[in-house]
Amino acid sequence: MSGQLFVISGASGAGKSTIVKALIDRIKGIGYSISHTSRKPRDSEKDGVDYHFVDTERFKTMIKSGEFLEWAQVYQAFYGTSYSTLDEQRKKGLDVILDVDSQGAGNIREQLENTVLIYVLPPSLEALEKRLRHRGMDDENVIKTRMETAVDEIEMCVKYDYIIINDDLEEAIEKTQAIIISERCRLSRQSAKLKELFNISLGTRTK
Ligand code: ADP
Ligand code: 5GP
Repeated sequence: MSGQLFVISGASGAGKSTIVKALIDRIKGIGYSISHTSRKPRDSEKDGVDYHFVDTERFKTMIKSGEFLEWAQVYQAFYGTSYSTLDEQRKKGLDVILDVDSQGAGNIREQLENTVLIYVLPPSLEALEKRLRHRGMDDENVIKTRMETAVDEIEMCVKYDYIIINDDLEEAIEKTQAIIISERCRLSRQSAKLKELFNISLGTRTK
């Protein structure tokens, strides 16, 4: 498999989907990995766009038949990244952004070491709660559960490569865009280009 993976995580309401949507519009050559979930769709969500919505039984069958690169139970529902979704993007030659929780990020990093992990934080817990309410897509119980787990989830940020504090949205988008573009310029990711343009091979210089 080729194509760089960029994992984005953060507590529910931190702004991950908003940032990811902007990145897909602004950055060339990048696709989004649409996860499978057993959670019910929110009013504005579309099957095959936001998620592949499946029932719990189907999700468990997919686990048994080894269809997921990673999966996890988050807020009482199953979520997972299927090999087929990921391959679809990579076959098009795209780098891929994945919005997965911290368990998923850890599992992906274990299997694909050079995955870049980015964590999105809200400016405060108060702002996070306000955003969840303002989004208007989850009922009170759901918001309560998500706020209860927010602190534990946020502490996982220390395992990531990059931290984005999403206070001003435009600034957060620009910083995340800068990370992706810088990562693409890494020497290790430019070896084919160096060979093609100047016949330089990595690790062959002796003086
Ligand atoms: P997540 O995907 O992390 O659960 P969303 O992207 O759905 O979060 O964002 C939650 C809500 O907060 C949405 O209504 C979104 O428009 C809003 N939001 C996102 N970023 C900001 C920001 N920087 N300032 C204010 N509101 C924001
Ligand atoms: P939501 O229900 O708000 O869309 O997402 C809930 C949580 O599930 C978020 O933390 C999100 O990052 C995570 N999530 C979404 N898709 C996946 C996935 O494929 N795998 C894992 N491990 N987590 C996911």
